[in-house]
Amino acid sequence: MTASKKKFAIVGAGPMGLMAAMDLLVQGHEVDIYERDDRIGGMSASFNFDGLKIERYYHFICKTDYPLFELLAELGLSDRLKWTDTKMGYYYEGKLYKWGTPFALLAFPKLGLISKFRYALHVMVTKGIQDWTALDKVSATVWLRKWLGERGYDVLWRRTFYLKFFEYTENLSASWIGTRIKRIALSRRSLLSESLGYIQGGSDTLLEVMEKFILERGGRIHLKQGIDQVNVENGCVAGVRIAGEDRAYDAVLSTAPIQYVPRMVPGLPREFADGIRKIENIPVACVILKLKHAVSENFWMNISDASIEIPGVIEYSNLNPGTRDGEHILYAPFYMPKTHPKWSLPNDQLIDEVIGYLSKINPAFRQDWVLARHCHRYDFAQTICPPGFQEMLPPMKTPVEGFFMADTSYYYPEDRSINESIATARRLVEAATKQPNGTASGRH
Ligand SMILES: Cc1cc2nc3c(=O)[nH]c(=O)nc-3n(C[C@H](O)[C@H](O)[C@H](O)COP(=O)(O)OP(=O)(O)OC[C@H]3O[C@@H](n4cnc5c(N)ncnc54)[C@H](O)[C@@H]3O)c2cc1C
Repeated sequence: MTASKKKFAIVGAGPMGLMAAMDLLVQGHEVDIYERDDRIGGMSASFNFDGLKIERYYHFICKTDYPLFELLAELGLSDRLKWTDTKMGYYYEGKLYKWGTPFALLAFPKLGLISKFRYALHVMVTKGIQDWTALDKVSATVWLRKWLGERGYDVLWRRTFYLKFFEYTENLSASWIGTRIKRIALSRRSLLSESLGYIQGGSDTLLEVMEKFILERGGRIHLKQGIDQVNVENGCVAGVRIAGEDRAYDAVLSTAPIQYVPRMVPGLPREFADGIRKIENIPVACVILKLKHAVSENFWMNISDASIEIPGVIEYSNLNPGTRDGEHILYAPFYMPKTHPKWSLPNDQLIDEVIGYLSKINPAFRQDWVLARHCHRYDFAQTICPPGFQEMLPPMKTPVEGFFMADTSYYYPEDRSINESIATARRLVEAATKQPNGTASGRH
């Protein structure tokens, strides 16, 4: 190893940690990844669901996920990327409507023509936005109301927004919601057809090849070994502490949710740590069901109905038909702050609640359609991005020499995705390997 080659520890083996390790190894550095969980993948990890290997949380890919496509090509996996013409539904006040096409919008009886026109115009304009700086400072709900009017906002956004963000609803950035609208709006085969992607074999197909790449180049992945502390001496990283044992490193890259960072790195200046603490996150309890039949033809169904307390359901098998005949996968997320009384309910109760909703959505649904049931929780599922979030984000290069950090907040203004994890990991490695003269040490 030459003088400029360093020994790195990476916190977290989600897609970001794996990608960062790959880039560092290509540059000739030595890399250890530490993962608290018993598997790689973080939020993209899979589990054995009654004999079916599937992600704990739903994953779809959009036509604009270019960094992901680039990585798939580099790893020889492009042929595993599949596209489906997906359908959307909108369950509004007791009835399921088609959604996501101009015809569906025209046929939707709950909005007048002017509101429909405003909605369509808003999507068209949002699709064309390249620079999100101005909208960073604007509130999402103010922006949506301005474009759609009160009636349009009430019918199309109010409840789904509330069921995802609760007390944060009025304090989200317009650019964050705008990039989500744009990403979906651009993922189409034609005006009439939404087209979403998935990786054959699920996210694990990619994660396993990333793992192989790392191991073949001498990288090490330590599962069930959470980093308890990053040791700092004289303002510089000295190493990490795991289960009471100190291990020496030149640099540490954290890809864990940044809310963990202030405790993990007690050597950070207090002001910097306080800046991190201001960033909030919403957990998810995500129910997954294996059903005998599909509940609908839709992949994605938004829900706005006073008697249903989830923002939507995702019928994954309508995107990725890779399950056995007579087995349909449905996800139903409960996003909620931990202050919400439902967060303390047992998983079984949340699962029963979802099952109770399915017969509302499809009256033919029967309890005996349920072949298997599960619920996963992730404490840091969705960053809260209030107006002005860009300025709230601390730099990846922290005041502790050799300690760099990023997590899903750093996708901003983009939405949470594996694609953004990959792009962010590459920026993180660039920040961590920048020479004092400002150049990155470069990929080989
Ligand atoms: C409900 C839901 C739906 C989603 N839908 C999609 C979708 O449709 N499409 C899409 O592309 N993406 C989707 N995502 C997002 C995608 O899963 C994430 O963007 C991606 O997995 C984030 O990867 P990451 O490596 O950045 O972070 P994470 O997945 O959060 O990984 C961080 C890792 O750090 C580990 N860790 C934490 N602390 C420590 C410690 N002290 N020591 C060691 N390890 C530690 C954690 O265990 C974890 O494995 C979804 C996520 C959720 C929750």
